[in-house]
Amino acid sequence: MEIIEKAPAKINLGLDVLYKREDGYHELEMVMVSVDLSDHLTFSSLEKDEIKIETENSFLPLDMRNHIYKAAIALKEKYHIQQGVHIYLDKKIPVAAGLAGGSSDAAATLRGLNKLWHLGISQEELVALGAEIGSDVPYCVCGNTAFVTGRGETLHFLPTVPQRWVVIVKPRLSVSTGSIFKELPLHSLEHSNVKGLVEAIHQGNFSEMVKNMGNSLEATTITKHPVVAQIKEKMLQFGADTALMSGSGPTVFALCEKYSRAQRIYNGLKGFCDEVYIVRTLNK
Ligand code: ATP
Repeated sequence: MEIIEKAPAKINLGLDVLYKREDGYHELEMVMVSVDLSDHLTFSSLEKDEIKIETENSFLPLDMRNHIYKAAIALKEKYHIQQGVHIYLDKKIPVAAGLAGGSSDAAATLRGLNKLWHLGISQEELVALGAEIGSDVPYCVCGNTAFVTGRGETLHFLPTVPQRWVVIVKPRLSVSTGSIFKELPLHSLEHSNVKGLVEAIHQGNFSEMVKNMGNSLEATTITKHPVVAQIKEKMLQFGADTALMSGSGPTVFALCEKYSRAQRIYNGLKGFCDEVYIVRTLNK
């Protein structure tokens, strides 16, 4: 038997850092939306009790450092599974980009192995297990549009946002999320209005959504990598309804109602960066 799971990327329409907690994590408020830029994972049973990961992407570790491996081991240990699995990863989401590619692969692994091994684990339990693997994994288990709080483990589902074209641009550099959080000026941080954004999503009011979109990590990433600001500026010049950095960056996305605008942004930025995509926000 073979199980295929799609692992979509996410973008942050809102991200605010409230404070640093005593356990060292930051208390966050985020609005996440899935987009149809996806990895695909194929799961098949192995006779031998081992986890074997294969991919064409030569930059990814295939051992315990891979989020897919971590998810499979977590599931095997918690539910005492003594079966082997072969996992083929078709990687399309840019790595270390702020698009939660690794987290989405981990979440797809939890969903896929739940099916392959007929475990019957509830979504709630998968979310809890996901929180032990990484902060973005709980959201990725469910996807769609969500208001996410805590360090990523508390999910509140929101109505699906009005569907838009999304132009995703990843400059050729990797950003370590940890280093951005370390350099964050918590006392002088400019907070984004995530609650206002949530309200606008409930009302289905796209122009209010745009007004309240923001990312409190953006200024810190821009200080280190000014290209992020240049991409944003170009997107707005080419006619984006709005443009924002996703996660800790360096990926920037533009939202457009009209496909012609999205195409203009795509054409305008294709010469500037190698990795440019036009996708759609995902509906349920
Ligand atoms: P997030 O938005 O959740 O912080 P990200 O998009 O910034 O995630 P990832 O693409 O998840 O970053 O990659 C972060 C690190 O995780 C990379 O250094 C990469 O080597 C490692 N990694 C491990 N497994 C995977 C995987 N399956 N896919 C991508 N990266 C992985």
